[in-house]
Amino acid sequence: MPENQLEADYLIIGAGAMGMAFVDELHSQDPHCSIVIVDRHASPGGHWNDAYPFVTLHQPALYYGVNSEPLGSGGEDLSSRAEILAYYERVLKKLLRSGRVQYFPQSVSHGGSRFRSLLEPSLTYDVQVRRKIVDATYMNVEVPSVRGPKYEVAAGAALLPINGLADLAEPAGAYVIIGGGKTGIDAVLLLLRRGVAPDHIHWVVPNDAWFLDRAQIQPHVPRLTPVHVSSSLHLCHVYLLFSPRFSLGSSCFFSGCFLPGSSRPNLMVNCFGHCWVSYFCPSPR
Ligand SMILES: Cc1cc2nc3c(=O)[nH]c(=O)nc-3n(C[C@H](O)[C@H](O)[C@H](O)COP(=O)(O)OP(=O)(O)OC[C@H]3O[C@@H](n4cnc5c(N)ncnc54)[C@H](O)[C@@H]3O)c2cc1C
Repeated sequence: MPENQLEADYLIIGAGAMGMAFVDELHSQDPHCSIVIVDRHASPGGHWNDAYPFVTLHQPALYYGVNSEPLGSGGEDLSSRAEILAYYERVLKKLLRSGRVQYFPQSVSHGGSRFRSLLEPSLTYDVQVRRKIVDATYMNVEVPSVRGPKYEVAAGAALLPINGLADLAEPAGAYVIIGGGKTGIDAVLLLLRRGVAPDHIHWVVPNDAWFLDRAQIQPHVPRLTPVHVSSSLHLCHVYLLFSPRFSLGSSCFFSGCFLPGSSRPNLMVNCFGHCWVSYFCPSPR
């Protein structure tokens, strides 16, 4: 079959959160541009397609998604995987309705302007790109369901990605959760919520991690009191005292990027505290 020829102003590789946000912004800022989107997955939303069914965002939905369409019900709401995928489907439909966007799911780019179908080897495309090719795959998010473990597994050990907890046919005698990040915590919490005895749960946490109690930074919940700001113009360290609501009453340190004229950090990369404990023992609301 001859290669298919397409023309567009932009070719976007990747329909995850990043690619979709970029397309949405292009689409609303430039009312005439045409866009081709290519993605390996069968539907938009990137790694959320591969995530475990009980995953949610770990920060309020209000902060997530594309500019033209709100996600979630506002406030502290954390959208679920199903809600996020339905949201991106809705956003994509809106973009496609304009007639200026073409979407090629289950297609793979090998760089440059060419891509091919993952279902039909003879179906290949070359896009004449008038403005830019945009690689929105940079984050390369890999979740456990799409890659094997990065350690050896003893013969006879039953190892499942976290997705497997959602469709076990029989209870296991014990569960060993490997990993101390959000995914590991989600696994432990799911088992506890479903009534698994704590004695049957073992948790391997390879590294200490510092977690921020999200109740401190949710929308409309101003509970942080800056006590000291050591600042250069754009980059500064901010020392903050937790409000009395913080269960462990610790102090916290953020590295933050300040916008000129703004009194709030727009990027927070570090915090010290014992928040992982408070994750399990949240202070009473
Ligand atoms: C469990 C979990 C919870 C998270 N919660 C939050 C949160 O609450 N808030 C937050 O801000 N962030 C959160 N994140 C971070 C999240 O990774 C980013 O917010 C965002 O989803 C990353 O989107 P992306 O588009 O960069 O990457 P991806 O979602 O990985 O999308 C990239 C897309 O590119 C496609 N692709 C890659 N290579 C090719 C190729 N060669 N050809 C065609 N297509 C290709 C992939 O198939 C994929 O669909 C979370 C992450 C995880 C894993």
